[in-house]
Amino acid sequence: MPYAYATYEDAASLADHIVSRRNDVLSKKISRYPKRAFTCSDISECDRYMIHSVLDWDKRELHDVGLQAIFDAGNKEEENVKARLGYELGLEFVETQAPFEIKNNKGEVIASGKIDGKILWNGKAVPVEIKSMNENSFNMINSLDDFKKKPLYRRYLRQMQLYLYGNNQEAGLFIISNFRTEKLILVTLDYGECEYIISRLERLWEMKKAGQYPEPEYRPELCDRCPFSSLCLADVENKPADFINNEALEEMLERREQLIPSKKEYEDLDEQIKSTFKEIPHAFVGTRFEIINKQFVKKSYDTKAMPDEIKKPYERETAYWRTTIKKIGD
Ligand code: SF4
Repeated sequence: MPYAYATYEDAASLADHIVSRRNDVLSKKISRYPKRAFTCSDISECDRYMIHSVLDWDKRELHDVGLQAIFDAGNKEEENVKARLGYELGLEFVETQAPFEIKNNKGEVIASGKIDGKILWNGKAVPVEIKSMNENSFNMINSLDDFKKKPLYRRYLRQMQLYLYGNNQEAGLFIISNFRTEKLILVTLDYGECEYIISRLERLWEMKKAGQYPEPEYRPELCDRCPFSSLCLADVENKPADFINNEALEEMLERREQLIPSKKEYEDLDEQIKSTFKEIPHAFVGTRFEIINKQFVKKSYDTKAMPDEIKKPYERETAYWRTTIKKIGD
């Protein structure tokens, strides 16, 4: 028997049903987990974040359904990559999601983590970590140096280094996927980097045990998306807010909101294009674009690695304001 014809209302109510049920399903997956030690995949550059991440895991701001959908897609893609390499190339994945721990010299577990798995090759098991990303980021990442460009990707590097260190492995592979194909980036164990990460974790671990929080240091690329920013800014947020009625200002804020996706797209494209021209001094693209690259040498000092007694005499306090703009209604 043929099905009855659907009306406009049927199609519209189906769309509403899908959106609302999908949001319900995603919402149920959003939760916090207790943490007793640092997580190797979540090593931020902010010391204060690291302390919050363990002592205040239960106050972490929950992410939204959009981000949950991205996490779900990433997990699914990990399985897809394993299937593509497994069924199509005959490679065997072993020790998937194997846990590992980093201990301090007192034998305390200060960090724990997991690696996506290992691929059997030449009778040995090569560690691999699968990361899925959007097309712009996928195109931007072509070497380990490219991982250093964004806080999130720098976390990936720290995770892999800790894994290699904690498991006595000389090298591993990042398998990056754009949800269609893969790119492989070889990672070798960097002892200097590992020692720096571990000594930092040891220092933070002692602070965590003493319940000490480092002073917040505002860095937009970290703080604007930080799930602990409301704790960090508690002093400011507890003061009564001003209410301002100003239509022009409200319109500017609306327009700013609309431009956020364009800004992100611009930044991703800019990075992708510039990485294409790395080390090419001069080029023309078509008849309308000229690309000029100049090399500069800049001197920098790793102040974080300096002992406190050397830094102390040069310490200065500077007051500054941090402005965070949050959209609170549609
Ligand atoms: S808001 Fe900024 S300073 Fe505070 S914990 Fe987060 S990243 Fe660190």
